[in-house]
Amino acid sequence: MPYIRTEKHNAEKIRLDLLKKKILDPNFQIFSDDDFVYFPVIKNYLDYDILPINGKLRIHENPYEKILKLIDIDDDLKKYVPKHWEKYGDVVLLQLPYKLYNYKGKIGEAFAKILHAKSVLIYKGVKGELRIPDTEFIYGNDAITVHIENGIYYKFDASRIMFSSGNVDERIRMGKIDASGEKIIDMFAGIGYFSLPIAKYAFPDEVISIEMNPESFFYLNENVKLNDVKIKTILSDNRDFYVSNYADRIIMGYIKTEEFVPYAMKMLKNKGMIHYHDTWTTEELNNKEIKVMEIFGDYIYDIKRFHVLKSYAPHIWHVVLDIKIRKV
Ligand code: SAM
Repeated sequence: MPYIRTEKHNAEKIRLDLLKKKILDPNFQIFSDDDFVYFPVIKNYLDYDILPINGKLRIHENPYEKILKLIDIDDDLKKYVPKHWEKYGDVVLLQLPYKLYNYKGKIGEAFAKILHAKSVLIYKGVKGELRIPDTEFIYGNDAITVHIENGIYYKFDASRIMFSSGNVDERIRMGKIDASGEKIIDMFAGIGYFSLPIAKYAFPDEVISIEMNPESFFYLNENVKLNDVKIKTILSDNRDFYVSNYADRIIMGYIKTEEFVPYAMKMLKNKGMIHYHDTWTTEELNNKEIKVMEIFGDYIYDIKRFHVLKSYAPHIWHVVLDIKIRKV
């Protein structure tokens, strides 16, 4: 195996040069002794002296393999250790099969160590109209974290507030719309999932974010400060927020959103855009024109975009419509 030997003080420069020339061999280990560093290369290269060395193969272990190695449980149980997890800042959430509940401490510790997390929680779903997650700590006791996405800081308590990783595309998209000069109302603001990217990147004239869960509202305000953006935050049920003919654009980031449409229409100017999220069955999806007519039939509307964001549950889909409305 051809290796290049270089003095230690020169090693970083040489490593970058080998990478640039694409001759560093990724399959063998780089190693060093007291004076020199040895780089495996894929071919002889005239710029350097080559030494024939029996190098060691590099073992590419992914984090999951490392986690499995670290958990001290019977091998036949290891296949139930979750292969997927969510990491928000330095907090990990995972779904754990009941079979492994007796070993949850060991499992939490292994995930924490390999993923460099301060806390690990079992995620058991979200509950109620406030969409509060049901979680259990299996390592650590503090789930307040700052998750960075698309240059935005989202601070929240992951044990008490949801963050949907599946909505990432939509959060990013909201930052890309041109909302210059617009007044925007986010009716289900949460910790600022959509309000923050809009306020930061979309040049709105004003963003009003309504949230009725005091805990989410607390983090919404924290995030406004952290991201240094201008948002008017309102702690209220959006059905009790009395402004009319005010917004150019309304975000309805919720599920079972239909009953909130009349309230959105009151807040909207005579014409404007609604980003309407909802959870529809496959049947509703297959008859979407009829479904849209049922919801928005009292208005003149134009569907600018229809998108299935993700599968929400078996046969249930999270859909997002950008719909232009003109009140008649
Ligand atoms: N769109 C979010 C995302 O990207 O992850 C998920 C939905 S978010 C959790 C929904 C938020 O709406 C919650 O914070 C909930 O407390 C809030 N909410 C629900 N009903 C509300 C209402 N009537 N008025 C104001 N806020 C409401």
